[in-house]
Amino acid sequence: MKKIVFVLLIPIVMSASCGTQEKADLVIINGKVLTIDQDNPSAEAIAMKGEYIIAVGSTKKISAMIEDGATEVIDAAGRLVIPGFNDAHVHFGPLDPDFIELRYTTDPAVITEKVKAQIAKSKPGELIRGGHWVHELFNDKKWPTKELIDKVSPDNPVILNRADGHSTLVNSYVLKQSGITKDTPDPFGGEIQKDPVTGEPTGILKDAAMDLIKTGETKTELSAEEEKEKEWQGYLLALKEAREYGVTSVQNAGWGDFNAYERLQREGELTLRIDLGAPLTADETKLGNYIKLQKKYPDEGNWIRFGYLKAFSDGSIGSSTALMFEPYSDNPSTSGLAMWQYDELEEMVVKADKMGFQIGVHAIGDKANNWVLNAFEKAIEVNGTRESRHRIEHSQTLQLSDIPRFAQLGVIPSMQPTHCISDKLFYEKRVGYERCLGTYAWRSLINAGSTLAFGTDYQVEPLNPMEGLYAAVSRKDRLGEEGEGWFPEQKLSMEEAIKYYTLGSAYAQFMDDRKGMIKPGYLADIVIVDKDLMTIPEAEIMKTKVDYTIVGGKVVYTSGN
Ligand SMILES: [Zn+2]
Repeated sequence: MKKIVFVLLIPIVMSASCGTQEKADLVIINGKVLTIDQDNPSAEAIAMKGEYIIAVGSTKKISAMIEDGATEVIDAAGRLVIPGFNDAHVHFGPLDPDFIELRYTTDPAVITEKVKAQIAKSKPGELIRGGHWVHELFNDKKWPTKELIDKVSPDNPVILNRADGHSTLVNSYVLKQSGITKDTPDPFGGEIQKDPVTGEPTGILKDAAMDLIKTGETKTELSAEEEKEKEWQGYLLALKEAREYGVTSVQNAGWGDFNAYERLQREGELTLRIDLGAPLTADETKLGNYIKLQKKYPDEGNWIRFGYLKAFSDGSIGSSTALMFEPYSDNPSTSGLAMWQYDELEEMVVKADKMGFQIGVHAIGDKANNWVLNAFEKAIEVNGTRESRHRIEHSQTLQLSDIPRFAQLGVIPSMQPTHCISDKLFYEKRVGYERCLGTYAWRSLINAGSTLAFGTDYQVEPLNPMEGLYAAVSRKDRLGEEGEGWFPEQKLSMEEAIKYYTLGSAYAQFMDDRKGMIKPGYLADIVIVDKDLMTIPEAEIMKTKVDYTIVGGKVVYTSGN
């Protein structure tokens, strides 16, 4: 029999009588509030009601909005309070507890050990996955080869991605399953790295060559229920990580599972706001489906929204696949790889722009960036000017003459400061000094009138925003080298770095009217950190921890401090 539940709604009447201050649900007092609101840059205290900020000011003023027993009070005790971090470029999704984490590996022997350990926990034929290695960080700085893992993985497929996701190391088991031999030609847009002496594949596959991978894996039978539960736990893990880092909004670069986020929201587990996009296409049926998705998850929403349409125009500098005008300095036989012919790219951009979509194209090389700017310019020519806020994801290597075109065309450079300090290890070797002058050119882009949007490219880089802030103000490696940093004229101030990580990112998703500042009427997404980022030495920035994460006026994380 169906159980009927009667819900009695009791209207809560606020005491709004004459002369009485509006009461807050949550307040922060005694803080050093960096609002990012240029009309009111600093404050001590914030009052929140429901999902929104209702007042910003002195502790005295805000204290008058505290109602005993009803208002939750956070005493910031002088700590820095800033808007929640909004990561403008992530690949967010469920984490996999079996993934072999190889970030920051310096000794390639560690890869062998970790693969061996994971295989000990697996059955023959099961796929072993891992990654985030960067060979420039290895002691010998050499590309890893299949020999590193073959001896410990005779019976399992192993796939270990480079941190940039544009190359991968596979073992002989995978090469065999994929039918890749010394005679297999490079596919369009990809490379099967081969030993210069023997001609044998080394196990490194770049870009489109990764599409050739067949694992022949035997899957451990998980019931649909177990599968679903594993994925659910993976989402919870990812959200926990975001809360702990003070990340209150993320913008997925490309597709994401709308249903999963809806379920998280329904069950009260969604603790960040997320935009999910879709692949850019010229296919009108697909574009039509996107319109439906956009209606279902509209711009006006604050939690799960349909984001921008994403395409790749090239690869990466690390893998020498970013599309350059001139050959690579350390490998004159290549100028990188285009993912699309220019005309195809332009057609997609013009069509999607005409239908009113926001577009974000991955471009790393100077030629790729030039092409994407040309395509956006063409869209304006054909469809007219509108507030499109198209974006170039990464905007890494720019011809100096292309820098002002971003602001002129209203194109947002969506950039990831940590890529700069990861890539600086090899950038100059790959492209030479001259081309580095337009690389991660934050200051030049700002001077030319651009609003940057900052993010991480998680999981290419860690989600921790402190690494991005450190990178933006130092342009030094994570160990904190001597000197002024890499092309120091492009460094930013801490306040600028925070601004582009909050308001700049909100602008890139058309939400700067309600997110990215600590301002009355804005969404109450706020972070309290344990160190004063504005005054501490560079070396302390990455050690800074989040003490409180507030999303939509609710405390979703506290460190206990
Ligand atoms: Zn990405």
